Amino acid sequence: MERNIFDEEHDMFRDAARSFLMKEIGPNADRWAEQEIVDREAFLKAGEQGLLCMWADEKYGGAGFSDFRYEQILLEENARYGDVGFFIFLHSRLVGPYIGELGTDEQKARWLPKCVSGESILAVAMTEPGAGSDISGIRTKADDKGDHYLLNGSKTFISNGILADLVIVAAKTDAASSHGLSLLVVERGMPGFERGRNLKKMGMHSQDTAELFFNNVKVPKQNLLGEWNRGFYHLMHFLAEERLLSAVGALANAEAAFAITLDYAKERQVFGMKVADYQVNRFKFADMRTEMDVAQSFIDRCVMNNNEGKLTADDAAKAKLYATELEDRVTDTCVQLHGGNGYMDEFPISRMYTAARVSRIYAGSSEIMREIISRSLGLDPRKKAKKSHADAA
Ligand SMILES: Cc1cc2nc3c(=O)[nH]c(=O)nc-3n(C[C@H](O)[C@H](O)[C@H](O)COP(=O)(O)OP(=O)(O)OC[C@H]3O[C@@H](n4cnc5c(N)ncnc54)[C@H](O)[C@@H]3O)c2cc1C
Repeated sequence: MERNIFDEEHDMFRDAARSFLMKEIGPNADRWAEQEIVDREAFLKAGEQGLLCMWADEKYGGAGFSDFRYEQILLEENARYGDVGFFIFLHSRLVGPYIGELGTDEQKARWLPKCVSGESILAVAMTEPGAGSDISGIRTKADDKGDHYLLNGSKTFISNGILADLVIVAAKTDAASSHGLSLLVVERGMPGFERGRNLKKMGMHSQDTAELFFNNVKVPKQNLLGEWNRGFYHLMHFLAEERLLSAVGALANAEAAFAITLDYAKERQVFGMKVADYQVNRFKFADMRTEMDVAQSFIDRCVMNNNEGKLTADDAAKAKLYATELEDRVTDTCVQLHGGNGYMDEFPISRMYTAARVSRIYAGSSEIMREIISRSLGLDPRKKAKKSHADAA
């Protein structure tokens, strides 16, 4: 279905992004998967091209484009022509805005120019071995020592964890409250900040996902992002856009898998006919196309709502839930349509399949998305339990 949210400027941007990704990113994907990390230069090259933190103000080197469609286009093109392990969106649109929106003028001037150029790579660290979906379990803590904060603890599963130069760390700062968190910016080279393993994963091998350790790290007071003890609310503020990014990426991955599989099935001959010519397979393509078009309309609507500051948490959750579950179904069907080749690492579909599996888990699992959506329907047993206690009292 023709999409109607883009104009000529977006189309020009898409062409430029595609050429960049085809030249500088896609050709490295196999090597990066082998070495289990993207080259730092990839971020520098994307920075030179003006593709990082495009929303940042011109005085920090950015383009001042807050229009989410540019990020959407970049994600779509990266899925098809770049490398899904190149987490440009995490750097630019998931973590960067924490600095852009919560940072003081001094912090923005200190950090943003290098985020825009790609000299500083960003990560956000919430998850710990005992705290993923439920961040009230965070144990990493920061104590106010007068002229600095003292940070102790560890994080796991942190994307860009090895490459990152600036890590936004969620730390417990008020033991009395389950929401008593603050956000501290930890910089590469601070004494006591150490990286653990680059974790071995099922898929997306070029993406560095790491453990991080903080042993008596003295974090300067100037590195508190946002307000002390308001970190939980700051994190919540960014979650809707994070989920929209996940949804856009998941649908883009499904589209990429669909396109290469359609080409393959039109070529591959079995029992004297092309794989694509069997009715059972034509119907699979028809079903996938239909579901992807329906999902695209909803996601495009969410993108426009986000541009107008009207994206709700439950709509973002619906977009993520639907797109990531669809990505899973599509990549699974596409492996099947490839036959044995679909299981071979040298066929891109096998990597798309393993990469897709994480989409239903990170940035809030499908179960958490269903929680958010059901609460928006007034279905919240915890609230009812509280109310009936109150009624009884
Ligand atoms: C490749 C990768 C990259 C990641 N990158 C980052 C990153 O950059 N920064 C970061 O901070 N984190 C990151 N994460 C962590 C990710 O966000 C968490 O893994 C995710 O939130 C799930 O938390 P968990 O792993 O602790 O699972 P758990 O919370 O232990 O969940 C286990 C199961 O219980 C289910 N469950 C949880 N709560 C409920 C509920 N209320 N109702 C029903 N079922 C429920 C979950 O859906 C899941 O199926 C990454 C993870 C991966 C795998």
